[in-house]
Amino acid sequence: MSRSLLPTIGPRVPQVPHGDNRERLTCPDCGFVQYDNPKVVVGSVARWQDRVLLCRRDINPRKGFWTLPAGYLELNETAEAGALREAWEEARARLSLQGVLAVYNIPRLSQVQVIYRAQLLSDDVSAGLETQEVRLFAWDEIPWGEIAFPSVRWALTHDREAGEATTFPARTNPPGETGDYGESTRPQK
Ligand SMILES: [Zn+2]
Repeated sequence: MSRSLLPTIGPRVPQVPHGDNRERLTCPDCGFVQYDNPKVVVGSVARWQDRVLLCRRDINPRKGFWTLPAGYLELNETAEAGALREAWEEARARLSLQGVLAVYNIPRLSQVQVIYRAQLLSDDVSAGLETQEVRLFAWDEIPWGEIAFPSVRWALTHDREAGEATTFPARTNPPGETGDYGESTRPQK
């Protein structure tokens, strides 16, 4: 942040607090230290038979592109509850979570994504807030050229690899990938 854009009240002085090792915004009036830490995104690869649920985004970034039902974890919410909430809000979908499919890191955005594997309890799904359209895609129908984010591709690929297994090790970023837009959204194999 450029210093000319710093606020004139509250935490506004960048300095390393006592006992810390990096600069934080601090308040010279009361000593308050503002800790800015990464955000957690929760979501799911939700399946109905051999198809997976995708949502066409109605908001930026990547409006019009397909994504998983996912979003920011709310304060005081568990990751599991957040994943279920996002599926309901974005796709009017009710899920049964089967376990953590992956934990992805997007350091450029200071973001950690916890993606569950889930079964849809019904194929009665419809577009919710922030969604233009929802659809269940077989693997061969997935619109790889219209996938919103690299991590959506990772999750779809990792879900595919887990196959019919009921237990599966949690995955993480494919080697060398950081989630930047420049990375392909095409399947890895
Ligand atoms: Zn203060």
